[in-house]
Amino acid sequence: MTKILLAGFSLAIAACAGDLLLGRGEMKITPPAGMPMGGGFTIRIGAAPHDDLFCKAIVFEQDGTKAGLVSCDVESLHRPWILRARALITAAGKIAGDNVMITATHNHAGPEMTPFVLAGATGETARIAKAYHDALPAKIAEAVSLADANKSPARVWFARGEEHTVSFNRRYVMKDGSVRMNPGQRNPEIVRPAGPIDPELSVLYFDTPDGKPLATIVNFALHTTAWGGKDFSADFPSVLATRLGEAKDPAMMTMFLQGCSGNINQVDVNSTEKQSGPAATNRIATVLAAGVIKLYRKLEPVPMPATALRVRRQPVDLPVPEFTQAEIANARKVLAASRIGGKDAPKFLDTVHAFTVLNVMEVHSAKPIPTEVQAITFGDQAAISGLPAEIFTELGMALKRGSPFPKTMVAELANDMLDYIPNLKAYPEGSYEPTTARCVPGCGESLIQRATELLVNLHQQPIAR
Ligand SMILES: [Zn+2]
Repeated sequence: MTKILLAGFSLAIAACAGDLLLGRGEMKITPPAGMPMGGGFTIRIGAAPHDDLFCKAIVFEQDGTKAGLVSCDVESLHRPWILRARALITAAGKIAGDNVMITATHNHAGPEMTPFVLAGATGETARIAKAYHDALPAKIAEAVSLADANKSPARVWFARGEEHTVSFNRRYVMKDGSVRMNPGQRNPEIVRPAGPIDPELSVLYFDTPDGKPLATIVNFALHTTAWGGKDFSADFPSVLATRLGEAKDPAMMTMFLQGCSGNINQVDVNSTEKQSGPAATNRIATVLAAGVIKLYRKLEPVPMPATALRVRRQPVDLPVPEFTQAEIANARKVLAASRIGGKDAPKFLDTVHAFTVLNVMEVHSAKPIPTEVQAITFGDQAAISGLPAEIFTELGMALKRGSPFPKTMVAELANDMLDYIPNLKAYPEGSYEPTTARCVPGCGESLIQRATELLVNLHQQPIAR
């Protein structure tokens, strides 16, 4: 038996070899006044925050293996920030940065995170945005350090249920045969949704050996676009955390892992009610919280024999489409015109296409995009798989079906932001998401294959019994 002293705890807590240890840490990342708000294609300054934004970190340790999991209340985290955060984590000397999965909740009521949009910012706005982004990797690293410093023995539990009332496939087949994203409430031209939702609501719950709540990880696929206000907020995951804290223990950490929600949002086209704002945010959060509270009664223990904690990442290259010189020249023209706006402003999808062309050419130099899939696994039962983009929900469901771990969570926007990755079926259907796609048709399916292989490899490794 080893005695370890835990920072922030008044008692020495005994940990045995083989114990799973868990630590929690968080850093406030609420944007300052003057910061542009995310979720659009133009610069708009956010109003004073309604509630605080956080980067939340959990560090797991067992028999010398350490894994970290981070969820930040932002729209996305581009690769350079991830690499910077991981370098700082490694430099801190407690855990290898590559063993930390860093995700975003896809919060649209947070700071602007898209370099292409921010390129349109000038003067003081540009200075504030740069300072915010420059500071973010250190805050992620600090949240991980805080988590590492207060580890204590933990038990692992899992439960899953279904929630069918708050999420909707946002792509619809229209009467003219086209597929449209967000065609509007009560639009008489709508025939049916173009795809499913993933109703699975899953929970990884951690407590102390004597039953004190430590953390709840909630995984559900739903675009974080309920708030819709001009004031910064962490949207429904913030209210969800409050509700679960009220039900369990205010000191418990609730971490929201965004599921594969590339084509899923909260808009019920059959309703006339307002689908965003404080009421919608509270309704969604309360429904999800109620689902989780019911799941607390169905938790099953996840056995953690010695060496049962695993973390591994797998580099993946995503092939990009080819564009002609004429297409590139036209994209530059369209983007310039969209920045000027007015009556000659290009159509929305033309602007989106121009963004995509220039992103592939200038950011990725027309070369396959180097990215990664990652997994953290608990014994032979539970896994968290991280994917590097906004992923169509069908792909996330396929990964869960193909996983050898019976309890698998899938987090999108993990360790990268490569805009949308639609399933093969959606590319010829068109509309917004395939227009933003940086990688060629079929890249989603091959990404899922790689992520499944990673889980299979981890599952095949024997666990000491
Ligand atoms: Zn999105």
